[in-house]
Amino acid sequence: TDLHQQLILQSVTDPLTGAFNRRKMDQTLASLLDQYRINPQNNALLMIDIDFFKKINDTYGHEVGDITLCDLVNKLQSQVRKTDKIFRIGGEEFLVVLPNTDFEHALHVAEALRMAVTEIYIVNTTQSITVSLGISMLMKNMTVEQWLGQADKCLYEAKKMGRNRVVSPNTQPSIASETDPTL
Ligand code: GH3
Ligand code: MG
Ligand code: MG
Repeated sequence: TDLHQQLILQSVTDPLTGAFNRRKMDQTLASLLDQYRINPQNNALLMIDIDFFKKINDTYGHEVGDITLCDLVNKLQSQVRKTDKIFRIGGEEFLVVLPNTDFEHALHVAEALRMAVTEIYIVNTTQSITVSLGISMLMKNMTVEQWLGQADKCLYEAKKMGRNRVVSPNTQPSIASETDPTL
């Protein structure tokens, strides 16, 4: 029934942003690993974290922070394919899963998302936001934890190197555009 479908969807969705939740992430990643064992194909993860989000909350208020989270998810959604999935995995941390995607393309998508996000303005301000991204490709014999861990490690590097940039395990980080240090 429609109601049944609605309840299922609700159980895997973050109510604030409409992104999928961690439960759905676990299902999706496990299923991609299963498929990989049968028929290996390229699958990429992009781990995304808003830069200086605490400062946005502190400066403009928690509600504005919430709106910013929704704006981010809408922006990401508008940039990715129908088969790609967006998950909210922490307060201001998101995972984009790109099935059937090789490293070159994943890097391209990550850069495109990074740039698109700079077009998001905090409501009623002229202040835009930035994100840092870590990439990880699914490799043979990887566990879900390792796959996520590698993306997380890259994200951590991106933060350390100054934010507003993409870091992947196999390439040099992209050149970041100017980050506003006042935010
Ligand atoms: P960094 O650039 O290193 O990522 O710094 P940051 O400030 O973004 O990271 P930090 O982890 O210090 O702060 C994250 C903030 O996100 C703190 C918390 O209050 C806020 N936050 C978490 N969940 C929500 C939410 O649902 N709504 C709002 N408005 N804020 C949230
Ligand atoms: Mg952050
Ligand atoms: Mg964070």
